[in-house]
Amino acid sequence: YSTASYAQDLIKPPVSVEYDKLLINGKFVEAASGKTFPTLDPRNGDVIAHVAEGDAEDINRAVAAARKAFDEGPWPKMTAYERCKIILRFADLVEKHNDEIAALETWDNGKPYEQSANIEIPMFVRLFRYYAGWADKIHGLTIQADGPHHVQTLHEPIGVAGQIIPWNFPLLMFAWKVGPALACGNTVVLKTAEQTPLSALLVAKLFHEAGLPDGVLNIVSGFGATAGAALASHMDVDKVAFTGSTETGKTILELAAKSNLKSVTLELGGKSPFIVCEDADVDKAVELAHFALFFNQGQCCCAGSRTFVHEKVYAEFVEKAKARALKRTVGDPFKAGMEQGPQIDEKQFSKILGYIKSGTEHGATLETGGARFGSKGYFIQPTVFSNVQDDMPIAKDEIFGPVQSILKYKDLGEVIKRANNSKYGLAAGVFTKNLDTANTLMRALRVGTVWINCFDTFDATIPFGGYKMSGIGREKGEYSLKNYLQVKAVVTPV
Ligand code: NAD
Repeated sequence: YSTASYAQDLIKPPVSVEYDKLLINGKFVEAASGKTFPTLDPRNGDVIAHVAEGDAEDINRAVAAARKAFDEGPWPKMTAYERCKIILRFADLVEKHNDEIAALETWDNGKPYEQSANIEIPMFVRLFRYYAGWADKIHGLTIQADGPHHVQTLHEPIGVAGQIIPWNFPLLMFAWKVGPALACGNTVVLKTAEQTPLSALLVAKLFHEAGLPDGVLNIVSGFGATAGAALASHMDVDKVAFTGSTETGKTILELAAKSNLKSVTLELGGKSPFIVCEDADVDKAVELAHFALFFNQGQCCCAGSRTFVHEKVYAEFVEKAKARALKRTVGDPFKAGMEQGPQIDEKQFSKILGYIKSGTEHGATLETGGARFGSKGYFIQPTVFSNVQDDMPIAKDEIFGPVQSILKYKDLGEVIKRANNSKYGLAAGVFTKNLDTANTLMRALRVGTVWINCFDTFDATIPFGGYKMSGIGREKGEYSLKNYLQVKAVVTPV
């Protein structure tokens, strides 16, 4: 399967998408400035396409279209079942075009094609079907007030939602945000990440083919400081949902506060512990810890990036973790059997290599890897450090790359303290056969998700979000609906 030339064909029909345009009010339009910027192939740095550089003026146009579609248009006014049917038709269309969409995602992002085609696009479809199912199950309460009053609550869409997504899972982040927003009857302006603007345009085009009315979903490509900031600070945007770095999350919260106090959902960084207990089957623990860190080139907000291993099994674990990393298949993500493709861009590539250097300088033991892989593109060797101490930058900061840090611990009380000693609180992994240990850790860890003897299980039904500086609010599952609904109390005398 698959060569770059096959991918090249995808920029053209079968689905006709104008990748150098914005999608506003159901039409492909040029950026107001007429400017474009290149999106690059992470395998080699080649230009894939020039995309429109949307700025504040384009955000104004997109928000105006979304506002009109919300206030006057059919979307919030049509029956929930009609909205449900359009979303289901969209999911069917995406499923039909699974392989083309997957190839475009891999081309723009660098993740293995098999991952895009067999995991991510099917998950995208599942998310939209799940939220389509919610569309006609959103309802309020009747309440017994203390007095001669009948009280009911109406759960209404919040209005125009601004959504800002990152580059590590361009389509899944689209689904986590657009799915619940539209099911609840909101309209959306979505700003794609500058590194991966292509797949959102393709699927948004399909959404219109499925019957989505104009103005309900608008896609603006552009940079964070211009288009992103304009969306977060827009006076006519009722809600902003963001996934990305903690620093940018703070900026977004500030922009929302300083403009119209729009409600904010943030899904931010992490430094998730993966705790291997003394009773663990070491071979299985090594495999899961490897997956927890290296999946998606290590570019996961919830990556198990602090591997805590009990001292009784530490030496064996390190030796086997090294052997597993050496076996990892790295290369062209379009080739069959590739576990790891390139990092997203030069900036991330250099940042990761900088952390690897700092790991060695601070005295961690480099077991394997530690350098670029190949001679072009942004590939990095799967890297494993042992003897990592809690105060080293590689144990504290989000590296967002294929760098596993293995730390040693003596007892449960100690590892709980150390695992919680982070400004982040996104997720944790626990590997044990002992139910008491699992129960103790599950309660003690201050994180939004605990995976016990599994990791990165991401069904549409499971809520996801962070404690501490990993975010505000929850996405996926029923919890996500709260982000996109207002509650109106209606009181009538009886
Ligand atoms: P970022 O947070 O700056 O970018 C994410 C999105 O936010 C992009 O769409 C970007 O255009 C937008 N953005 C940037 N500045 C903005 C602003 N001032 N106002 C509004 N929107 C803005 O992340 P990055 O620079 O691509 O990556 C930096 C680091 O962030 C990575 O190394 C990684 O540690 C972390 N990161 C985390 C996630 C995650 O899933 N939590 C995703 C991507 C990156």
